[in-house]
Order: sequence, then C-alpha cells, then structure tokens
Amino acid sequence: MYTGRETKTRKAEIKSDVSDVHYVVKLFAFWLDVPVGEVEPLVNQKDIEKLGSLLVKKQLPFFDRYARMFGQPILGFLPERLRYRITDVAKAIRNVKYYHAIKRVERCAFVKIYLELKRKLNVPGLRWNGKNAAVVLTHDIDSSKCYRYLPRLLELERKFGLRSSVNFLTHWGYTVDAALVRSLSKDGFEIGLHGYTHDADLGNKPKRFIEKHISRALKDLNFPVVGYRAPAFGVSTELLEVLDKKGFKYDSSMKLIDHIGTSAELCFPYKYPGLNIWEIPLTVQDDRVFRDKRLNDEEGVGIVKELVERVIKSNGVAVINTHPRLIQKHVFFYNDLLEWLAHRSDIWVATPAHLIAYVEDLWVKRWGSAAND
Ligand SMILES: [Zn+2]
Repeated sequence: MYTGRETKTRKAEIKSDVSDVHYVVKLFAFWLDVPVGEVEPLVNQKDIEKLGSLLVKKQLPFFDRYARMFGQPILGFLPERLRYRITDVAKAIRNVKYYHAIKRVERCAFVKIYLELKRKLNVPGLRWNGKNAAVVLTHDIDSSKCYRYLPRLLELERKFGLRSSVNFLTHWGYTVDAALVRSLSKDGFEIGLHGYTHDADLGNKPKRFIEKHISRALKDLNFPVVGYRAPAFGVSTELLEVLDKKGFKYDSSMKLIDHIGTSAELCFPYKYPGLNIWEIPLTVQDDRVFRDKRLNDEEGVGIVKELVERVIKSNGVAVINTHPRLIQKHVFFYNDLLEWLAHRSDIWVATPAHLIAYVEDLWVKRWGSAAND
C-alpha cells in the first residue's frame, strides 16, 4: 500500500528517471536498432535532458484543470445529449485560446533528433514486423451512441481484413455485453479499457480513488485486458502506477502532437522507467478533425493520411483513434482511410496489444530484462 509520501517520492523518481540522459539515449538506440554506444557520441546532453520531461504528462493548463475538476461531478448527472453539448462548447472555448496549426511530425522534438541520428548513422531503424512503420486503430466507446454503432463500424474493418482495439467504459450509459466482448476477441479485435466512468479528472485524484475506479471497471468488464486509454487523455504518474500494478501492458493517453502543450512529440512506443508499462502515443483522433477543425470527410481523410504518411516516413507508429458516434456521420472518411491502409504494403496494421508484445520481446532480447531499470 502506498502512502502519500511514497507516491510523491515515486513521482519525483519517474520524473528524474525520464530526464536521465542514459534512459533517453537507450530509447533512441532502441528505435534506431543500434547499440547505445553508437548514439551516445552523436547527441547533445543538454538537448536530451530536456526531451525526457516530454515523456510524462505535464500539469494541465489552468482552464483545463479546473474545468475537469469542477465540471466532472456535474457532467456525470446530465443526460448524454446535454453532456456532449457542454463539453463541445468547453473545448471550443479552449481551442480559441490554445489553437495552433497541427505541427509537422518531423519537426516534433524527438522525431527531429531521431531523423538526424538515422541520417548520420545511415541505418534503416527498427523494423515493425518486417515493415517500415506500424499503424494502430483504436476506438473509445464514450456513450450509448458509440456502443450501439460499434458493430457496424467494426464491420467496415472486417471488410478490409483489419482489426482494431475497442476501449470500453463500464458505467457510462451502456452495459457491455459479455457475449459481444467474447465474439470480438475471438474475431481478432482487442478489448481495452477506457474506465469505469468517463472521469476526465481521474489522474489528478488520490491514488486510492484511482485504484478503486480501475478495479471496479475491471470487475465489470470481467475480461482480460492489457491496454488502457485515460478519459480525455488525463493520464498521470499515479494512474500509470495503478495500471502497472493491475497488470496492464500499455497506456495510450499521450499524444504525438497537441495544441495545448501536453504532447510527447514522438511517434514511437516507449517504456516508462521503473514500471513495466509501455506508452503508445496517439497520432490523431476523429474529433480533432471533425469537431475542432470542422473539416468535411474528404478534407478529414486528407489530413489524417498526411499525418500517417509523415509518421511512416519517420519509421514510427501511427495511432488513429475514432469514436463510433462520430464515424456514424463520417462513414466515407473511415471507409476511405481503411481502404488506403489495407493497400499499403509498407506498413504493419496491428492491434496495440500485438504491437506491444512485439516491442517487449525485442526490448527483453536487447536489454535482457522485462523491467525497464
Ligand atoms: Zn473518451
């Protein structure tokens, strides 16, 4: 059992561990698939130190933090329709203040250095199951509308022979059918967890509360899961520690690019120091395209393809998250995107659990131990 003091110490440890030059160099060596000794002389220590801090979630901006803290208890009591209207307006206000154009993938801090190192070393970089890059498809089931449309959305993926991961909430306006979960898993889809309720403030809450929340969700779901995405990407060190303790293998709540200053600026999975859990940063999600940027299907698919193409050129992993309730109105977008992905011979379209099993295997072969220490 953790005490408050221990939590504080662990948090400080993880923060200092990610800034440890050796840890960041080790990550670059892993992604480039070269020995650490080849990377070390080529990097500037000061640049690398700064990069490490991007790998853990930073404190949210003032407006966001208080909106989550005070808004969350109220939202839980509202009907679904009203809930969406309110969060859409809150996010529109936030975007006025924080909106910046989507940054270029190759200009992101980690990717920029990765590409420079790759050029200097003249190496192909890590292969993704024999391919140049990997793409991961996920869905967060945020409402009863999402839940109802899910089977039809997955039908589209089946049509192209693709499989995704579905992150369920277990106490948020719909009941997860055990038979559906079993049949999806049998068919190759991955079952993941999005939480008990859609608590955007979960990561900021006391560890005991977080543990209870995750335990309840796992008990409800009653199905083995290894992956998690925090509601509203509100991951924290405490939350990661709980996930690690509960046997999760990965989290996907960090972002490659974001407009409110909380992005990891990389498109590669990385293992948190001192924990046995990986992070797979999100590349893009549907509401960024349709709600925030108000693009039509053709423009939306154009921008997502461009982002994925840039990740492919950077030999990374593109994670595309969609919500069935939004895709219901943008079937053309998703169909076109899936068709494009299915015809790319240079990428590995994998479920996140398969991808993590793959990198974990390579990691253990390289460093000889499952734990990252
Ligand atoms: Zn969500």
